[in-house]
Amino acid sequence: MDEKRNGSVKRRRPQAQPKKYRQHPAVTILKVVGTLFLSGLMIIVITGSIFATALTIYILNFADTTTTVNLDEEVVTSNVTRFFYRNPDFDPDDEESEEWLFYYGLKNQQRKAVWVDLKQVPDYAQDAFVCAEDERFYTHDGVDFKRTLSAIVQTLLGYKQGGSTITQQTIKNITKDNETDGSEGVERKIREIFRAINVEKVYTKDDILEAYVNVVEFGTSSMEIVGVEQAANYYFCKDVSELNYAEAASLAAMLKAPADLNPLENPEDNDDRLRYVLRQMNDNGTLSDDEWDIAKKQADELEVIGDPEFSSIEEDNEIPEDQGDTDWFMDAVINQAEELIADQKGISIEDARQRLYSGGYDVYTTVDINMQRDLEKKMRDASNFQEWSFDDDKLMAGFCVVDYQGNVLVNVSSRNKKKGSRIFNLVSQGERSPGSCIKPIASYAPALDQDLITYSQMILDSPINVDADSDGIEEKWPVNYSEFGESANWSNAYIPAWQMLALSLNTAPAQLVQQMTPTYCYNFLREKLDITTLVDGTDSDYSGMTVGGLTHGLHLQELVAAYTIFGNGGRKYPTTYISLMEEVDGTVVYEHTDGYKQAINDSTSYIMNKMMQKAVTDANGTARYARLKNTVLAAKTGTSSDWVDLNFVGCTPDYVSGVWIGYEEWKKIPTSDYQNIGEIWHNLFGDIAENETHHDFQMPDSVEVLKYCTRSGEIASNFCGSTDIGYYKESFIPQYCNIG
Ligand SMILES: [Zn+2]
Repeated sequence: MDEKRNGSVKRRRPQAQPKKYRQHPAVTILKVVGTLFLSGLMIIVITGSIFATALTIYILNFADTTTTVNLDEEVVTSNVTRFFYRNPDFDPDDEESEEWLFYYGLKNQQRKAVWVDLKQVPDYAQDAFVCAEDERFYTHDGVDFKRTLSAIVQTLLGYKQGGSTITQQTIKNITKDNETDGSEGVERKIREIFRAINVEKVYTKDDILEAYVNVVEFGTSSMEIVGVEQAANYYFCKDVSELNYAEAASLAAMLKAPADLNPLENPEDNDDRLRYVLRQMNDNGTLSDDEWDIAKKQADELEVIGDPEFSSIEEDNEIPEDQGDTDWFMDAVINQAEELIADQKGISIEDARQRLYSGGYDVYTTVDINMQRDLEKKMRDASNFQEWSFDDDKLMAGFCVVDYQGNVLVNVSSRNKKKGSRIFNLVSQGERSPGSCIKPIASYAPALDQDLITYSQMILDSPINVDADSDGIEEKWPVNYSEFGESANWSNAYIPAWQMLALSLNTAPAQLVQQMTPTYCYNFLREKLDITTLVDGTDSDYSGMTVGGLTHGLHLQELVAAYTIFGNGGRKYPTTYISLMEEVDGTVVYEHTDGYKQAINDSTSYIMNKMMQKAVTDANGTARYARLKNTVLAAKTGTSSDWVDLNFVGCTPDYVSGVWIGYEEWKKIPTSDYQNIGEIWHNLFGDIAENETHHDFQMPDSVEVLKYCTRSGEIASNFCGSTDIGYYKESFIPQYCNIG
């Protein structure tokens, strides 16, 4: 390519031409054909290798993901899902005392739990099944490749023939993995082959045959009959152990196509095949000539009954007939259980629901059953609410209690008697404005955690400038609310941080949100405190992060759970209604462990707690009506604009509890005093709180108790006239006051 260089063209010197040979056309054609053939071969080899590799990976993938199918009786027959609660009177020293008691059960009515041991099935009946369905059962390793191959050939020729062994059929019946069409059908078949080979490695032939006779289907065109015991009951009104040769062969005869070959609806077809099965049994020596003669006679006299009522087995009904509706707590448990199954199996919520309701799970819930029942009762008692609510059926309320490890203990989602199972759950599904209850979690805690404020830091009670309408015109925002109503009552005075919170003034949180940015606060709520209902964009704004003016709102349980960080050293545990969930074979679906996120420092946690105690103990604190006699309470009230939502969240040493009241629609609550909500909380939870195991919170070493000057908010010097007690991080102590 050096012809062109610097734009000039060099003339190439003519070269000597090599001598040309003319080729015979046939040679040319042969060459072309040869080249084409070789290329074709190469393509085939390469494509083949790629295909083979892909196929290997594909199959190995199956081998990997389809390792075990459990054939154990308790797994296969399980048709109930049981829920338990912790026995409040459990005594670990008493052997009779049970730690977990039955709470609620889901039962699959279609699936009867009947299982017989192989010992109860006569030998000749076992032989009949093997003869009819899988002659080489005792010699193959799960898959009969001779039959599989023959089945493939037959299928290609247009005949239908099952190539499945007893092992494969058992797996198909247990897993309900029975897609037959298209590529899904092929995948299913490959999966089944691997499962069959694995099952044969784990179980004996007798184990497999026992599972088989218990799960195989004997149904008619209109009735589901599963397992040999039910079949013997239904067709012959006998226990399986009482079947004679012909009856056993009759049942074996129908397995190929139960609806078409069953002795009740198609007696002649059944009879034909029954006799074929008997002949086979005689051929291979499992039935002697004498026995065959008897069997044939029995076949002549075969009496088929078809009685759906006959049962040789006492049904073990572990779930009471009438359990009534689920309670509020159980509804939330079931919702969570469905989510856990969907997560574990990678399936939809609908499929997960199907699995849960089909049975096979034991679920240990976190409910405190006494507290749950107590609060259900109290919530229905109108006198626990204010006078203005007595006759107001439409006024709704929700109550939630969580412990400091994230276990939900109480969920009551209505003031009225619950009507129906699995209905809308206010506590776990409702999305309502938290009002000022958002202040501790969205602004004060993250600000204190980053040392933007201290307990007694003086903050100017004045608004910030915001562009509220995004129209470029800034306005002063927000106004403060007071118990005397709404007004732009900025005092323009310096007020210590704890008092800003205790009086629930809006100016301080607005300034803190501005300092940190609304997006920071928004992310803090989502990532550190697991709040899930915030809306991207619209909720990361001043109104949302300062006063809880959110697009939808919060689930009460998430609001209450977020406050756990103020009583446990700043840890955020996952919130749960389930402490342990297992499949009947012991496979753990979920276990609530000690895992947590450190949302804020332990010192921040304790100082926030002390600040919120002031909302209760201060003469003007907004939560003062909730005050307790014996137990320390750190709390916050919250009112949404226009008195549409009233919230209260309280941290006592053992629990975090919260109440919300409001209407379904956007309607003002008829009270002039939002602080009433403290009194309502006290009516509902006061006696429980007074009787808690602990009565105060533990102060961490990282906090120091010091006197501060009420004029400067700094550490008091000897010259300061007015002082009070404050709580400070060891690592961030204000300077000494120098103004006296
Ligand atoms: Zn001073």
